[in-house]
Amino acid sequence: MTRYDAEIEKLSIPTPYAVGDVNVYVIKGEALTLVDAGPRTPEGKEVLAKSLRDLGLLISDFDQIVLTHHHPDHAGGIDFFPEQTNVFGHANNQRWLELTDEFKESLHLFYLGVGKELAVPEEMVASMNNYRGGYISKRTVQTLLQEGDEIPGLSGFQVIETPGHAQSHISLFRESDGVMIGGDHLLDKISPNPILEPPISQDVYRPEPLNQYNSSLRKWLELPISLTLSGHGDDISDTHELIRHNFARQHGRAMQVKQMLEVKPQTGFEICKQLFPRVYERELGLTISETVGQLDYLELLGEIKKEDQNGIYMYSVNS
Ligand SMILES: [Zn+2]
Repeated sequence: MTRYDAEIEKLSIPTPYAVGDVNVYVIKGEALTLVDAGPRTPEGKEVLAKSLRDLGLLISDFDQIVLTHHHPDHAGGIDFFPEQTNVFGHANNQRWLELTDEFKESLHLFYLGVGKELAVPEEMVASMNNYRGGYISKRTVQTLLQEGDEIPGLSGFQVIETPGHAQSHISLFRESDGVMIGGDHLLDKISPNPILEPPISQDVYRPEPLNQYNSSLRKWLELPISLTLSGHGDDISDTHELIRHNFARQHGRAMQVKQMLEVKPQTGFEICKQLFPRVYERELGLTISETVGQLDYLELLGEIKKEDQNGIYMYSVNS
């Protein structure tokens, strides 16, 4: 447990996911607020309850929960809280928490479509779609948040929309001391995956998660952040420096992709296999997201182009 000031306490909750523990934050403002709730696992609930007891608090004491995004290591635990605990979050959480049959069907069709464009073999397309981040929740977001909102009972913090890692992602910035509660937007040791999700609106082809993620990081560069309290791992004291470092590393990776395309024009799946030869079969959803991200990025820079060949995109360098 780390203490920042009288108002913010950091709790570390175990998760069954590869990422390890997740951080949730207790904020004692005018209202008692929890930012993220940990996973919906018996162990998660036990550790959460125990850590709160150490602070003299009960799960039932909380007035409100704010979700940074919908992933199950952050949002799953909302089901432990009583009805009167108000859940705040971005509107884009809802489809993943409700996980209706209609949304599952649209997910299926989305991955089928993207899989075809990238030339993912038909028998592998299904494994791109493992409802990553989705699970049927008993609860959903009750009060929707968007850019610039202040949350009642949590004065001083402002909502910053930071889509990229998830379409639902927000962070909370306190201007008075520069504290950023960042969710998974920026992590100390790991670079967060911008994950491919279906579009929110039918009029949009699909989100470009890495380009979106980079824009959201640039937003953070404009804020005087003194300390980032992140969703996993340690606090980040040199936020802007880490962002610039990550930008440079990601650009370097993208240039490797460009070099692959200099050899010959290729499909997205061919690039994915070269980028992740050991894990692409096991982690197709994540590795395809990463690949698509780098290809979108290079396209945005004008370094490469794609050509539709009977529904399959062939990527090549721009000469
Ligand atoms: Zn996440």
